[in-house]
Amino acid sequence: MKGIIVKSTGSWFQVKSIDTKQVFPCRIRGKFRLNESKTTNPLAVGDIVKFEIEPADDDKEVGVVTELYPRNNYIIRKSNKLSSQSQIIASNIDLVIPVFTLSSPTTSQGFLDRILVTAEAYKIPVLIAFNKIDLYDDDQKNILNYWNNLYKSLGYDTIEVSALENINIKQLFEKIKGKTSLICGHSGSGKSTLLNILDSKLTIKTGAISNQHQKGKHTTTFAEMHSITDDTHIIDTPGIRDFGVIDIEAAELGHFFPEIKALMPKCKFHNCLHKNEPDCAVVKAYEAEEINPSRYYSYRSILEGEDSFG
Ligand code: GDP
Ligand code: ZN
Repeated sequence: MKGIIVKSTGSWFQVKSIDTKQVFPCRIRGKFRLNESKTTNPLAVGDIVKFEIEPADDDKEVGVVTELYPRNNYIIRKSNKLSSQSQIIASNIDLVIPVFTLSSPTTSQGFLDRILVTAEAYKIPVLIAFNKIDLYDDDQKNILNYWNNLYKSLGYDTIEVSALENINIKQLFEKIKGKTSLICGHSGSGKSTLLNILDSKLTIKTGAISNQHQKGKHTTTFAEMHSITDDTHIIDTPGIRDFGVIDIEAAELGHFFPEIKALMPKCKFHNCLHKNEPDCAVVKAYEAEEINPSRYYSYRSILEGEDSFG
């Protein structure tokens, strides 16, 4: 049978049959572990697999995953800072949805820009969801407009929503229909509330106190796929804050900022890092205020390896 991994807890995988939509708990055969020695998890949410149902002792149906179909893409993170091993967070992603809020909590731009860099690196389209618009006063609405226009001008699709007040949720659904999206954002930004309103069958706990601030610690958290319809899925990544920005060479980073990428051919040196090199088109544009300064700061802070997710 062919299935899709909808949840993983390390050695057990919930596999949803593509034909019957039934979900089976599955294990894997040892060879998977050997094959993928660089990652701590051989299979990840989003993986398409072949699986067989094994004769079980009791009446529970348990399966074995026998084959992994090639992945279109996958997002990985390092298991921990000192390790060369990495964990695959999710695979076969059509859209990355960063959830951005101006208050309770405030999303830092650095956090958003890191997610955008990750999405660019994996060539996955982005939809920035500005949530909690019901909360904002006039000043905040102006700020929201500013961010919205900035990111639209960079080529990113955006939408302003309120998960709580059901504003623009239909429009959001239209944008994610038929896709597998990965939703990410600070704890409290409203991801669970969004999932619940997109699919009334879901009853994900919201407003939960999270332990996500235990930064640096390797907490074992796993992604989970929620099916909004048969072909519309959202992968939630509770507890995973430190997306990507790994394995990107310094000289490559500029490629993942669209406005920097556009200027790079005009830099004098082909390996320019856009810091203090002579005749750097990016620094010139920054000084002339032709590119957004906060985006340039994000670039510099990622380049300098600052780990501030805010
Ligand atoms: P998560 O940690 O990202 O899953 O965030 P939750 O969905 O648990 O939401 C955190 C808190 O924000 C909860 O108390 C929600 O009711 C609230 N919340 C979520 N979306 C909205 C919204 O659009 N407007 C308002 N006012 N509150 C929201
Ligand atoms: Zn340059």
